[in-house]
Amino acid sequence: MQAAIVAMAAHTILAAAPSSHPLLSTFSNPSPTAPPSHSSTFHGVSFKLPQRHNLSLTAVASKPLTVVAAAKKAVAVLKGTSNVEGVVTLTQDDDGPTTVKVRITGLTPGPHGFHLHEYGDTTNGCISTGPHFNPNKLTHGAPEDEVRHAGDLGNIVANADGVAEATIVDSQIPLSGPNTVVGRALVVHELEDDLGKGGHELSLSTGNAGGRLACGVVGLTPV
Ligand SMILES: [Zn+2]
Repeated sequence: MQAAIVAMAAHTILAAAPSSHPLLSTFSNPSPTAPPSHSSTFHGVSFKLPQRHNLSLTAVASKPLTVVAAAKKAVAVLKGTSNVEGVVTLTQDDDGPTTVKVRITGLTPGPHGFHLHEYGDTTNGCISTGPHFNPNKLTHGAPEDEVRHAGDLGNIVANADGVAEATIVDSQIPLSGPNTVVGRALVVHELEDDLGKGGHELSLSTGNAGGRLACGVVGLTPV
């Protein structure tokens, strides 16, 4: 990986130098097998590079490795068509579980289904966030069940003031990798999630948790 980046950087410097030099003319032409888009990418990046020394190039190349190994943090701001709103933060160290801190206000007292939905699309309000995030094609369940949607985070409980505060630790909602939840949406529901056990026709798909009161797209934020 690093070797490839260094090679790309070397190519970039050569391609950015004046093409009149006889030795460089060979390098400034992309190889016949390389897609044309590679050439334009290198030229776009190349403008700043001739002023940098090799030392700074090394720092640039090693930066992605540091990000992968460090803590990750994301946030979702939940809003809807009512006065229900809230902020949810998600943090994850390396490949460990994700810690979800929830604070939502404006709810009716009692339990409300809280799920990670498949899409970060709110063009049609919370409806367009799609179904519960379910990369393993299982049926709806409780967070502690083996058979569950990855997005099944159970219920949060609002107090008499309509405020729900919770800390959820879950291993199926990573902030990176093929099943990342970044770019998807958190949704708080009107009713209690029956966790797949209510016997209603919707129990095994949504937990029969009713309407979507507020939702927010999960996006990366500084740690
Ligand atoms: Zn579900």
